[in-house]
Amino acid sequence: MFKAIAVTLFVAGCLRAETMPPTAEQDLAKSIYKEFIEIRSGYTSGATTPVAEAAAARLRAAGFSDADIFIGGPIPKKANLVVRYRGTGKAKPILLLAHTDVVEAKREDWSTDPFQFIEKDGYFYGRGTGDDKAQAAVWIANLIRYKREGFAPNRDIIVALTADEEGGGPYNGVAWLLGNHRELIDAEYCLNEGGWGEMHGGKRVSNDVQVSEKYVINFRLEVRNKGGHSSMPVPDNAIYHLAGALDRLSRFTFPLKTNEVTRTYFEELAKIEQRPIKSDLAKVGSGSPEVLQRIAAVSPGWNATLRTTCVATELEGGHAKNALPQLAAANINCRVLPEDSPEYVQQTLDKVIADDQVHISVEGEVKQGPASPLRPDVMKGINRVTDSLWPGVPAVPMMVMGATDGAYLRPAGIPTYGVQGFFMGEEDMRFHGRDERMPVRSFFEGQTFLYQLVKVLTSSE
Ligand SMILES: [Zn+2]
Repeated sequence: MFKAIAVTLFVAGCLRAETMPPTAEQDLAKSIYKEFIEIRSGYTSGATTPVAEAAAARLRAAGFSDADIFIGGPIPKKANLVVRYRGTGKAKPILLLAHTDVVEAKREDWSTDPFQFIEKDGYFYGRGTGDDKAQAAVWIANLIRYKREGFAPNRDIIVALTADEEGGGPYNGVAWLLGNHRELIDAEYCLNEGGWGEMHGGKRVSNDVQVSEKYVINFRLEVRNKGGHSSMPVPDNAIYHLAGALDRLSRFTFPLKTNEVTRTYFEELAKIEQRPIKSDLAKVGSGSPEVLQRIAAVSPGWNATLRTTCVATELEGGHAKNALPQLAAANINCRVLPEDSPEYVQQTLDKVIADDQVHISVEGEVKQGPASPLRPDVMKGINRVTDSLWPGVPAVPMMVMGATDGAYLRPAGIPTYGVQGFFMGEEDMRFHGRDERMPVRSFFEGQTFLYQLVKVLTSSE
């Protein structure tokens, strides 16, 4: 009997690697996580410097030398931490990134204090538990573990915990480091937030890897007119010109297309899809317009994956109830595929709007980044570790609609992959919202995943 059980356990052990880290490693990661969550690092009201200092203190206590730890930033409140774990130098360094600022959270909006780390019913609650302090804590805990275990990577492992990813602004840590201390974070490629594990009904479905992201352009449509008294209207009216333009825009869609990342994304999804759309997903590579049209029709998310989108988001106009408008204006928010240029989008809008009274201009700066190549070494490593921890769960490359610090790194020549291995259900998607949380088990499994992944990527075969 005993023997039979032992054999069963052994066989199970071969099929599936242990997903939970040793207890001591769990305790370490959790205590760093708690410390980070309880530091108020809201991007408008808080400071990231105490997070950088807390991480540095942990690293020094673990034996990292001051020469390998950097703390600095554009203003005293907004410091970044960069630490270097030295390898044998056979390959160019790898950069592990996480941001330490969080979206603001008000006590009255939450069920619990957002800046108190609370474990309840199988979840960790607190602002930043998902975005992005889990990964920040895991990077530090794992680095300390490598050190204790005497791990000798074939390249330097750089961890950067940076300021102000949320909301942009002048103190973005990655932009600041690239501009002022590029040598500290220069790397062959970077692992970052932006990809997580998808769980449906508690079942792990896919481990998502963010490989590229759409970029944002805001256009201002503006119509100016000499105006006049509303009692004597003329056909040439600023509001009508704008309304016509918006109406034409509302009926226009950019062409459907795929790229290497989105093709692979839909082909991987075809393997796990249960609905009839499965056969279309598998045929996405054919580029057939009918196939793409049917896929786009399934959801706004899939539609946005297959085309550049532009939508009206703000309106202004008129100055008095009894005056002809002298100004009518709208903001058009475009989410652009990496391969579509800003000029192409603007020329297309010009043609669609087709009214020379409507002046079109770009608002703010445009950060167009290339997609990261689907590096076989990175994708193979992610696949291998994913499959050993969660057999049968595919690693799925994605292009996301939002923006991360990858938008700074990719144009700077550092391909960036969003991968975390933290599995979440739809009800756990509370980034930026109230009662943000992380399943306890998912946090620790992600710790194991990232520990093994970085080891695989920094070990010579
Ligand atoms: Zn984030």
